[in-house]
Amino acid sequence: MPELPEVEIVTRRLHSLIAGKTIAKARLYRAGLSPENTPRQFQSLLKATTVREVTRRGKHILAHLSRNRTLITHLRMTGRFLYVAEDANHTTHTHAVIWFDDGMKLLFDDQRHFGLMMVVRTEELDRVKPLAKLAPEPFSNAFSPRYLHETLARSRQPIKLALLDQTKVVGLGNIYAAEALHRARIHPRLPADKLSRPRAESLHREIVAVLREAIANDAAFDVESGDLDTSYGRYENLARVYEREGQPCHTCGKPIRRVTQGGRSTYFCPRCQRR
Ligand SMILES: [Zn+2]
Repeated sequence: MPELPEVEIVTRRLHSLIAGKTIAKARLYRAGLSPENTPRQFQSLLKATTVREVTRRGKHILAHLSRNRTLITHLRMTGRFLYVAEDANHTTHTHAVIWFDDGMKLLFDDQRHFGLMMVVRTEELDRVKPLAKLAPEPFSNAFSPRYLHETLARSRQPIKLALLDQTKVVGLGNIYAAEALHRARIHPRLPADKLSRPRAESLHREIVAVLREAIANDAAFDVESGDLDTSYGRYENLARVYEREGQPCHTCGKPIRRVTQGGRSTYFCPRCQRR
C-alpha cells in the first residue's frame, strides 16, 4: 500500500505530465470508484476542464482543474495511474480514463477495487469528508515537535498505532511508522501519552527525515510503461526494521523482532527501542 512518499512521487509525476492540459473527455467504467458522483456527473464535471496543478493532501492526490473543480484520488491498496497514448490498450482493471486533447490519456487501474475518486468544487475541498479531519502535513510548520508531543499526550494507544491514525499524523503507514520508531529508539508498544518531550522531539525529527529520504529515493519515470508508480517498494530495500524479522539490527546486531499490533506486523529492535 502506498504511503505518503509514494503518493508524493505519483503527485509530482502527474503534475509534470498533465498540468496545463485540457481534458477532452472522461469516462468512469466502475461506478464504485467514485460513489459520490454518478458516472454521468463524473464525465460531465471533468469534460472541457484544464488541469491547473496537482497537489497532495495526506495520501490523497488532488488534481485542481479550471471551472472550480478538483478531482480527488486515493490509491488505497492497488490503485495506480498509467499515462499512455490514446491508442494504447486499456488494462484488465481500468476503472476510469481521462483523455486529453493532445493525444494522451490517463488510465486508473485498480486490481483490488479499493481506490476512490471524487470530483468536488475546489472551494469545498477543506470540508470534504476524507480531508476535513486530517492532521497537518508532516513538512508543514503546523506539524511541529510540540504539536506531535501534545497530540500523542492525549492518546493511551500504543505509539505505533497512534502514528497510523491520520487525524494525528498524516501519511505514515506500516513501513514508515516502524522505521521512524526505530530511528528514534522508541518501543512500538509504548503508550503514546508516556512519550517524554525530548523523545517526541526526536520522533518528530525522524518522521520528517524518513519521509524525505523515501521521497528522494525515487526512480526515473518509465515512459515505456507509462506507469506512475515505479517507486513502490523501493524504500523496503533501505528499511532498517521493516520485514527484517530475525535479521541483525544495523545499529546493535540484535535480531529484529516482529509483533502484531492492530492486526498488522510491527518490526523493532528489542535492544535499541526502549519503552
Ligand atoms: Zn538494535
